[in-house]
Amino acid sequence: MRLEEKSYLIMAQNSSEMLVINKLLNKNNIETDLVPAPPEWGTVCAIAVKIKGTDLETSKNLLHSSGINNAKILEDRKLKLQGLIDKKLGLMVSERFLEILKKIENGDELQREEIIYLLSTDKKREIDAIFSAADRIRKETVGDVVEIRGAIEFSNYCRKNCKYCGIRGQNSEIKRYRMTEEEIMEVVAYLHSLGLRTVILQSGEDPYWTMPKIINILRKIKETTGMRITLSIGERPYEEYAEFKKAGADNFLLKIETTNRELFKEIHPDDDFDTRLQCSKWLKELGYINGSGNIIGLPGQTVEDIASDIEFFRDMGINMIGIGPFIPAKGSPYEKLTPGDIAMTLRTVAVTRIVCKKVYIPSTTALATLSKDAQVWALNAGANTIMLINTPKKYRSSYNIYDNKNMVDLEAAVYAVRKAANRKLPSYLKLPSYLENPDFDFAAKQEGML
Ligand code: SAH
Repeated sequence: MRLEEKSYLIMAQNSSEMLVINKLLNKNNIETDLVPAPPEWGTVCAIAVKIKGTDLETSKNLLHSSGINNAKILEDRKLKLQGLIDKKLGLMVSERFLEILKKIENGDELQREEIIYLLSTDKKREIDAIFSAADRIRKETVGDVVEIRGAIEFSNYCRKNCKYCGIRGQNSEIKRYRMTEEEIMEVVAYLHSLGLRTVILQSGEDPYWTMPKIINILRKIKETTGMRITLSIGERPYEEYAEFKKAGADNFLLKIETTNRELFKEIHPDDDFDTRLQCSKWLKELGYINGSGNIIGLPGQTVEDIASDIEFFRDMGINMIGIGPFIPAKGSPYEKLTPGDIAMTLRTVAVTRIVCKKVYIPSTTALATLSKDAQVWALNAGANTIMLINTPKKYRSSYNIYDNKNMVDLEAAVYAVRKAANRKLPSYLKLPSYLENPDFDFAAKQEGML
């Protein structure tokens, strides 16, 4: 391969060095992209600075003359997979599908039409092959461990009115709550005692939680537990995102929900697609592990829309991708609509894994809500993380972004991981002894027999 066709990844020691490198190169007119780091780079999805082969020498010199000598530079290799296609399969699937599968084996980037094909084929053999390709890629990029995170939904006040969402500001049918700092810290301590490494702080867009208040809680969590922190608190000004990062936020989850601009406008009466996109770009620029995602089954959403969402995740270098089915919420304008399709959600998970490779894909709570085993299916379809809901009991039912929201707890997560094929619980997890028993009878417990 010629130098012009190659690209390279610069791996910094930490995220602030990565930002320094990125700025330095951009200032010297070198085009860069921030992308998820390659699989061999430890177990975390760190971020790498991608450059073109033709800029390699200049970049090296710039780093050197600026005293940055620890950054590693690797060639950006494609992920090649062998054995996706065997002779038998070749006879049972379409010519077109076989071509796509060959591209996947070869690590080549899929075109939009190919993504649409994968999302829409109804041939059983092809669907099976899509899921097994996704599972292979999941295994080779992020391994068998299912990462477990703990979420705290600390406020359900919201100034927005997203039509699908049950905690939209105008919904007067729910009781509003805000957790106090002490209440939040109590849950954090519990999550820490379980050995978890990441806590997710999620809320509506609540003006009460001003920048200084958020910073305060971030610092407290860092000081007392050292845990990684994911924020999921919606749109904020650049300066606030920057301050949150400085105060210890590591990851940010801000789903684009849909990349179809018209649909976006329709479902978000007081939101602007470009603003949301800008926020997501800022988060990336600031060095957050950047989370996005979409909702499957929005009114009028097409397979083409979902393909565009997946292309967006890839082209934006998104690191965490939350894919959940739409679920109607009481008191929302979409209360009476039908829920999103589980099969389509799982297919989207699989195709996203195939296209985006090394990313975190949660087996979402929304899936768990539609069926007890849907989280298991998602783990088998390319997902690799589970988020526990740890909002205190007295508030939980009020965080009804959708109805009958499943409260994925430690038991549910352990159940899903044990039931999924060849998956492991993380070694950092400190299970209570009754759950350490691999034969623990979850069904009996649920039915109140134990
Ligand atoms: N206010 C934050 C957090 C929103 S809640 C923000 O704007 O980012 C987290 C996610 O729940 C949303 O991004 C959305 O994708 C999902 N969600 C909300 N209502 C839903 C519904 N009715 N069905 C499915 N997913 C929903």
